[in-house]
Amino acid sequence: TTTESAVTEAELAAGRRAYELDRQHVFHSWSAQKQIKPMTVIRAEGSHVWDGEGRKLLDFSSQLVNTNIGHQHPKVVAAIQEQAGKLCTIAPQYVNDARSEAARLVSELTPGNLDTIFFTNGGADAVEHAVRMARLHTGRYKVLSAYRSYHGGTALAVNVTGDPRRIPNDYGTAGTVHFHAPFLYRSQFHATTEQEECSRALDHLEQIIQLEGPSAFAAVVLESIPGTAGIMVPPPGYLAGVRELTRRYGIMFIADEVMAGFGRSGKWFAVEHGGDVVPDLLTFAKGINSGYVPLGGVAISDEIAATFADKAYPGGLTYSGHPLACAAAVATIGAMREEGMVENAARLGDTVFGPGLAELAAKHPSVGEVRGTGAFWAVELVKNRETREPMAPYGASSPEMNTLISACKDRGLLPFANFNRLHVVPPLNVTDEEARTGLDILDDVLGIADTFVSE
Ligand code: PLP
Repeated sequence: TTTESAVTEAELAAGRRAYELDRQHVFHSWSAQKQIKPMTVIRAEGSHVWDGEGRKLLDFSSQLVNTNIGHQHPKVVAAIQEQAGKLCTIAPQYVNDARSEAARLVSELTPGNLDTIFFTNGGADAVEHAVRMARLHTGRYKVLSAYRSYHGGTALAVNVTGDPRRIPNDYGTAGTVHFHAPFLYRSQFHATTEQEECSRALDHLEQIIQLEGPSAFAAVVLESIPGTAGIMVPPPGYLAGVRELTRRYGIMFIADEVMAGFGRSGKWFAVEHGGDVVPDLLTFAKGINSGYVPLGGVAISDEIAATFADKAYPGGLTYSGHPLACAAAVATIGAMREEGMVENAARLGDTVFGPGLAELAAKHPSVGEVRGTGAFWAVELVKNRETREPMAPYGASSPEMNTLISACKDRGLLPFANFNRLHVVPPLNVTDEEARTGLDILDDVLGIADTFVSE
């Protein structure tokens, strides 16, 4: 196994070669190719990665908020190796034990009657298929989704996305209508309390449904807790309100749990924070197997599954339910249960991240707000607390944010950053000591952020 030992000269040389080849031949996502200096990762273990200079960094990003069990978990590595020795690939139309067991486990963990699982390769295609299922089930076409949301980079998923990544990809796909989900700190509804924000956001959604045609919508696609858009934990009653509205108008409720699911929020699925809320479709990916092998999927209600009992579902993917990915999922869920990782995320949220970040917010004028739950937190940085002017414009980076990201890395912390936010999203099994170390580094870096504040 890999150890704490320093990276060897040979590994560093291989890393330098990889970097050169990368810059010559690899096309990076969401990037201007000549303007990036991507970090080389030589190896990783648990909550740490080693970069191309041999520096050891505490991974407070979980990569793209997917490595929920940390890097190189030995039980999952062994399960992938064992499966590779037995059966590396099998087409979706065949039965395979890893896939059957993964489906059983997901249906057991998801709420209510979401008992049939369609596997995909990742999150975006899970969203694509959930929308397709909702359209075929309802016979309707339009889809509602929130501004300040991310649902994936493929054609439909990016179109229902509500953050600026949609804009350069918007070819006018008909039928997507956006609405404002609750976000008290930057309230679109001039609300001053969570309760006001909740009821006004629900009124707003209902008004859009009415204006666009109450029987026009196939689905509402909603992140149970919007993730990349800023970890806006919805106010109490909001998810239940959306459930009630969608039911009233015959609209399918698609809860996108690609980022928030599989323990990230301190519960297996973030929709559980909303009480007894059961969506019609639930999309997942990332944490299902911590991204060790690409996997995503849709958990389908009995009613929607019944639509396709005697009518073919027109869709599928060569790698749907890939055996290596499913074996990794079975081992991941097993390890998460045996090692109490979801409980650990909840406990850390309540005892370390919540209070620790609140302290940082009180101390640093550059912090506009901290919010989150479990191992899922955002630090919203501002240039001015009164005006709430963000540290970077919405949809962009800024020199200030770039300085802060570099400062984190120089101090041994790998952050997840988006626009004006630093996210605290470590593996769910991060130790208390690692969690505190990360917050101490953040404290130091926020000292630099404070120098960018103009009163
Ligand atoms: N949905 C949500 C909520 C996400 O956060 C993401 C990715 O970050 C996606 C969908 C897309 O997932 P993928 O990148 O696996 O296609």
